Amino acid sequence: MGSLERFYNYIDGAWTGSETYRMVDDPATGQPYAEIADASIGDADAAMASARRCVDSGALTSVRPAQRVSWLLAIAREIKALTEEAALVLSRENGKSLDIARGEFEESARYFEYYAGMADKIEGTSIPLGNGYVDFTSYEPMGVSVQIVPWNFPPSICARSLAPALAAGNAVVVKSPEVSPLAMTFLMTACERAGLPRGAVNLLCGAGAVVGAHLVEHAETNQIVFTGSVATGQRILRAAAERATPCVMEMGGKSAAIVHADADLDQVIASVEAGIFFNAGQVCSAMSRLLVHRSRMEEVCQRVTELTESLSIGAGITNPGLTPLVSEAQLTQVEGMCRRAIVEGATCITGGERVSGTSGYFMQPTVFTDVAVDSEIFQQEVFGPVLVIHAFDSEDEAVALANGTAFGLVAGVFDQHLDRALRTARRLRGGQVFINEWFAGGVETPFGGVGLSGYGREKGQQGLYGYVQTKNIAIRIAGE
Ligand code: NAD
Repeated sequence: MGSLERFYNYIDGAWTGSETYRMVDDPATGQPYAEIADASIGDADAAMASARRCVDSGALTSVRPAQRVSWLLAIAREIKALTEEAALVLSRENGKSLDIARGEFEESARYFEYYAGMADKIEGTSIPLGNGYVDFTSYEPMGVSVQIVPWNFPPSICARSLAPALAAGNAVVVKSPEVSPLAMTFLMTACERAGLPRGAVNLLCGAGAVVGAHLVEHAETNQIVFTGSVATGQRILRAAAERATPCVMEMGGKSAAIVHADADLDQVIASVEAGIFFNAGQVCSAMSRLLVHRSRMEEVCQRVTELTESLSIGAGITNPGLTPLVSEAQLTQVEGMCRRAIVEGATCITGGERVSGTSGYFMQPTVFTDVAVDSEIFQQEVFGPVLVIHAFDSEDEAVALANGTAFGLVAGVFDQHLDRALRTARRLRGGQVFINEWFAGGVETPFGGVGLSGYGREKGQQGLYGYVQTKNIAIRIAGE
């Protein structure tokens, strides 16, 4: 496969090859697109040693904080300059639409701008202890932050953690996903061009169970930031317990939107389109369940079906309404869950199968009703363009249904009565609730889960405080 374009790992300030290369497919065709150096345990050790040297040298922390502001702003500028080129790669390797791919790099740049604004404002407090004492707290970086990234939004999830970590003065080793690892390399290019100190960022693409697991267990790891599936997250947490390594965990979801009787259905349908068909539903905070007041059920089912029929299906590069899933494995998993839902007695009102006649990984937009609340399709994350619509009769029932899974990432309420919408929102279990627009919020708003969705918060001002630890210094002033 010598003719394929090659991508590399970024270790200790240098682009590094490997003895073996990992093939990356184009999900729209199922054909090989490019390849990337497959990191070894030795590469992981080299990256960790480089990050440790960066931390110990004080290259990020002995400078005035304004220097970190400059670096982060420069990274944002470089990402913007690379966006067109990088978005093309992301769309081809991931299947996502070119517009979403561009949006991911725009959002990545925004993370660096946003946390640049905080890098010189990480201020401690002074604590009064009476005469004879001075006491203050300061926020110190964790040290070497290991960040493990999934395949659904690789650059923006990487930037979401990398930007606050650098703002706070941590050195970072990023583990990219095995599927869709290419476009993340452009973030390293941006860091390199911005003149970050050597070792401040390192990027490794390697097998999760080998390189990822090694980083998690590494003696130099001071923090683990994980975004990915529940099963992997639980494995990481068990391993992290060995050294009591602090973790930020962003895992899956089975998020529900509640449609009250007087909801504006135009708002609802626009949010269904964004909530479950955006990125082919491969979104941790996807709206995978729509809980509808029984009086609006028929109308909602009809309008959602019309929406699915209006979606064009095609390669991401052509910007269709529905793009392929990232891999054959993901398509097989999504299709399997749909088949089991039908066996369990659910009614599939549209879709339910892969798109035939193509070698790409396309799944039909799919909608289920008549779903048992204890069934797999109601309880477990699908991570594809698959929506469950379920009726409720009372607000209490809607809240119980929404809260009735092991997850708790986001939720939504659609209602023209803001008082009831707000009351419902307060009762919903999750880190973020959207009222009248799914995905309202942004880089500025804290995000994270409860239950099996994980813990810790990313984004917003609060996100930065996941990358520091508090130190208190208490001074006895003799003679006072
Ligand atoms: P995954 O858990 O399979 O992999 C995620 C990352 O973990 C990859 O980089 C993988 O190589 C690595 N990994 C695998 N085994 C490991 C191990 N033993 N030790 C260390 N690292 C290991 O998840 P995925 O399939 O890439 O992503 C989809 C999942 O991610 C979904 O469940 C989705 O909900 C979740 N997700 C959550 C958020 C969030 O912010 N809450 C965002 C995006 C995706």
